[in-house]
Amino acid sequence: MNSVSTRAHGGGLRIGEMERDTLLAQGVSNTLRDRLIEQSDRYKCWVCKVCGLFATYDPETKIKECLVCETEGDEFIKQIELPYATKLVIQELIGINIVPRVLVDPDSGVVKITVR
Ligand SMILES: [Zn+2]
Repeated sequence: MNSVSTRAHGGGLRIGEMERDTLLAQGVSNTLRDRLIEQSDRYKCWVCKVCGLFATYDPETKIKECLVCETEGDEFIKQIELPYATKLVIQELIGINIVPRVLVDPDSGVVKITVR
């Protein structure tokens, strides 16, 4: 989950586990979000609030739907932001039949990933 390498390639400073742990100890969650998502590999995707799986969005018809539980519309489908590496890990796990669910808190919008 490191940012793009070197400033010459449009990247920033790298942040590793030790840096992350130090920042967590200081309670700077906004800084971590900035380093690990905003300045790194931010990826926007759609998830179904009913089943917690990735949903689809068609920009031409503006239809958001979950192909698994066949729900449709803004009340069931929510856009979230994840590091792209996290999305890849979720898809790799689904490939070996471990299905993580993306849970979105309806009030705060906080995203949690769980395996039921
Ligand atoms: Zn669904």
